Amino acid sequence: MTNPNAAQAECAVHAEGVAHRYGDHQALAGVDFSVGRGERRGFLGPNGSGKSTLFKLLATILPLGAGKVSVFGQDLAKDFAAIRRRIGVVFQSPALDRKLSVRENLTYGGHLQGMRGRALAARVDEMLAVGNLADRANDVVGTLSGGLRRRVEIAKGLLHAPDLVLLDEPSTGLDPSARQDLWAFLRAQQGLTVLFTTHLMEEAEEADRLTILDRGKVVAEGAPDDLRAELGGEVLQIHCADAEQLGHEVDALLGVQAQVLPGVVRVEHDHAHRLVAQVVDRFGDRLQRVSVAPPSLEDVFIARTGHRLGEEA
Ligand code: ADP
Ligand code: MG
Repeated sequence: MTNPNAAQAECAVHAEGVAHRYGDHQALAGVDFSVGRGERRGFLGPNGSGKSTLFKLLATILPLGAGKVSVFGQDLAKDFAAIRRRIGVVFQSPALDRKLSVRENLTYGGHLQGMRGRALAARVDEMLAVGNLADRANDVVGTLSGGLRRRVEIAKGLLHAPDLVLLDEPSTGLDPSARQDLWAFLRAQQGLTVLFTTHLMEEAEEADRLTILDRGKVVAEGAPDDLRAELGGEVLQIHCADAEQLGHEVDALLGVQAQVLPGVVRVEHDHAHRLVAQVVDRFGDRLQRVSVAPPSLEDVFIARTGHRLGEEA
């Protein structure tokens, strides 16, 4: 009914079959996703799952070899000059000049975007105010805390008023309060489409929707609450030294299919809290700790991949 090209134009980003190899290593193995305009989309995955590679492709730092990406309806492979003007990028590794002041860094960033003169100076002032950085404008970046530096980077990435920002691990090196400040700032940017990567479950909660990556593939996608709700019920975790053996015994005792991870037996169950007494009675001193909780995003990840988010790919 609707023309697929028109539907893609409604998206901020539409990606199909995006793949990338470094030599023999397949870092991305065919990734598909669509991000709506104004959406905050998180890409959650362990180290090595391909997040930074994906963002380098989207930022046109790496050439797109396989797959198709459109950004605001324009083809990334053909129209990247036009697309680049509409996106701001903040990479995982810091890209500020530590010897220059905050204002100088922003001004320099503006020059790279083709901004000049009074318009640039006014925009720098505006971003200093929005980023709560005005009183630090003349401080040398090297003297700032990690949280402040990260805010300067993000202010620099937003200087040319992009419609979309790519933030690779935005809270690297930030303490929890600086991370909250950063997200309050991002949430206040009306209409801005935000794509960010993270390996932190708490940060993934900032997303409207999440694309969960593992070993270069999408393993789940949805709003954080919906992803958790799909698991349903509760998660019983039994921490013990002999997880492999205990897993079998738990299956037999409870009539379930427990999942065994290093040092933990996991059971998804509608009423997991009712199983605790049986487990403690039966296994007593073999247990280190037993917990029951609603499913977390880590549980979603484990359910889809069979391993933990904290493990390297
Ligand atoms: P993430 O950002 O999720 O940690 P990356 O995209 O950085 O993942 O890396 C994905 C995989 O590609 C990893 O196995 C990593 O070691 C590998 N890789 C990343 N960059 C390079 C590179 N320049 N050369 C070779 N391998 C790379
Ligand atoms: Mg990375």
